[in-house]
Amino acid sequence: MIRRALLVALVLAAACGPVAATPTPTPTATPSAPTTTTALPSPSPSLTPTPGLMPLFDAHLHYSAPAWSVYPPETVAKILDSVGVRSGLVSSAPDEGTFKLRAVLGERIIPMLGPYRNVADVFSWARDPSIVPYVESIYRPRVHRGFGEFHLLPGQLGLPTVRALLALAQREKLFLQPHADARAVAELLEYVPDATVLWAHAGVDATPDQIGALLDKWPKLSVELSLRVDIAPNGTLDARWRDLLVRYRDRFMIGTDTWTAGGTFTGNERWDAYAEIANGIRGWLAQLPTDVAEAIAYRNADRFLAQLPR
Ligand SMILES: [Zn+2]
Repeated sequence: MIRRALLVALVLAAACGPVAATPTPTPTATPSAPTTTTALPSPSPSLTPTPGLMPLFDAHLHYSAPAWSVYPPETVAKILDSVGVRSGLVSSAPDEGTFKLRAVLGERIIPMLGPYRNVADVFSWARDPSIVPYVESIYRPRVHRGFGEFHLLPGQLGLPTVRALLALAQREKLFLQPHADARAVAELLEYVPDATVLWAHAGVDATPDQIGALLDKWPKLSVELSLRVDIAPNGTLDARWRDLLVRYRDRFMIGTDTWTAGGTFTGNERWDAYAEIANGIRGWLAQLPTDVAEAIAYRNADRFLAQLPR
């Protein structure tokens, strides 16, 4: 129960988080990871990841407005280099954040088309028709590779804004990156059965059994693992998770989720803790067979991106 409470607190703390229909973000808990600023190594002009470290592909990055001055793109580049993150999927509120990062990090930044102009949109986008022209105005064909991260609650697929943006994504052959619980993602998969879907946070609180059942049923479903502290409580890989990750070794990716939270948060707590988060992921990857760890660390992402339409 403690683990569950921690997970819920962690998710409630995230602007990237609430799966419940909360009208206003009011974080009431601090993230579990320490938030001390990580000491950075000296600049690496080549922007290449640290040699000798297994590369990581971060399938869940955000570079939203509160991060821009505190973590300028050059600083983000040093952080990614220092922990061996080679590249990642990035969506930002607003979208220009992604391209500030891409201007410095180039092809390492894979742009995602996100529906949020600001933090508040996370909670209201599905019922806000003004989101549609915003997304249409920022969309760059063949540059944005997927649509998301977007938050989806059960029962929201009938909403006009949701339908309009899913139609845009289908038309443009963008894969989908939903933040949705097991019920909402199942509804989404039924609604767009041909879509390639990268399920954010493995559904936040979906169980390994639920995740496995969905992977069995939907061959174009992949799963991203940010925020899942239950994979390795206290650093030890959970046995049910181990079975799931080994069984579906080709379907998982790691992610950190550098969200932006409002309220009393600075919005940069996940960037502050980035090295610790990445090292925590390396800790449980190291408890898997090497080929499985490499698949989840970066090979699955490479293959996933290579098979996308351009
Ligand atoms: Zn999320």
